[in-house]
Amino acid sequence: MRGQVSHLRAAVLTAGCRLNQAESDALRQRLTLEGATLVEAPEQADVCYVNTCTVTAEADRSSLGLIRRVCRSGPAPRVVVLGCLAERAPERLRQVPGVSEVWDNARKQARIAGLGPIPARSRALLKVQDGCPYRCSFCVVSGLRGPPWALPAHQVRQQLARLVADGFREVVLTGLNLGTYRDGATTLAGLVRGLLAFLDRARLRLGPLEPDTVDDALVCLLAEPGVCPHLHLPLQSGDDDLLARMNRRYRVEEFELLLERVLRVRPETNIGVDVIVGFPGESDKSYERTWRLLARLPIGYLHVFPFSLRPGTEPACAGEPVPKAKVRERVGELRALSDRRRREYAARFVDSVRPAMVETAQAALTDNYLRLKVVGGEALAFRSLARLRIGRQGSVLTGSPD
Ligand code: SF4
Repeated sequence: MRGQVSHLRAAVLTAGCRLNQAESDALRQRLTLEGATLVEAPEQADVCYVNTCTVTAEADRSSLGLIRRVCRSGPAPRVVVLGCLAERAPERLRQVPGVSEVWDNARKQARIAGLGPIPARSRALLKVQDGCPYRCSFCVVSGLRGPPWALPAHQVRQQLARLVADGFREVVLTGLNLGTYRDGATTLAGLVRGLLAFLDRARLRLGPLEPDTVDDALVCLLAEPGVCPHLHLPLQSGDDDLLARMNRRYRVEEFELLLERVLRVRPETNIGVDVIVGFPGESDKSYERTWRLLARLPIGYLHVFPFSLRPGTEPACAGEPVPKAKVRERVGELRALSDRRRREYAARFVDSVRPAMVETAQAALTDNYLRLKVVGGEALAFRSLARLRIGRQGSVLTGSPD
């Protein structure tokens, strides 16, 4: 295969989650190894890869929009579509004028197997796990990604060491259901513990984790300075009946206890939560339970998703549909709550100093996931870790070298 595309300029565009972004980064590595030149704009590319997502109806729309935009860019590149929408609806994508090839997920995996990422951003996303043994009733993705897979721990160490040697100071571990990582007897906690020795100049952030997979060993690791005090936990609902109908593997009380355990170990942890609004059968009472729970939980932000019925999940999601106007109203309420929570969480850190990774001359990201506008940081190197004092300019958080 080497040399096959050596004369080519290639662009890789991505829709969807961090796992997709990590895979796009690995595809960039493959293309580079084969001698292709990477470009950003589709109109500069001979071949353009579009890595799609299908997690929601909105994800379908934006993936299709991206494909159409790329196909219209001139002079027309060869367009290869891959990712979860390509796996789920290949015929539909083949009909889009300008699409040259559609890859299923097996073909994508075969192209990127064994490769670490060439990150297209300041942080490196390292895919260590794929596939999901769970069957959440609303989820179309777990059935599309094939059986559970884990990058062997020694290869994770090698790839992490290479990324740190290449100058990356933050590496985000990603997976479809990251907490189910297993390499023989090595769990995710064991993997992370083994990586700490390589982190003297860098830090590790954990991607989203299913709440039931966060065991005590993992919680204890949050006390390590090399592990960012930031967790993203998909809650989805604050109503036990809905959680049962969603096939989720925890209940509200366990979720609350998990947050208590985390904050006992590292009180400054920024906890983000996913929630689905308008799941069929979500009555006023069940929404009220979700609202009350989220209003009392010590969280830093919410990601709120209006429910959308996905192909293949219909019987599991049978139930009284929630009127659209009600869904919109609930989404609005919870997003307003999220905004408040972001402000309240950030306010706790104004006037304090935190380690932050310099993303551009004007932007940095703290260990606890606060985005800062850098002030007076002209001397700070791109991607370096710096100690920044957090301040405020109106609603914007600032960071100046301490
Ligand atoms: S945990 Fe649930 S929502 Fe997440 S990928 Fe697995 S089945 Fe889908």
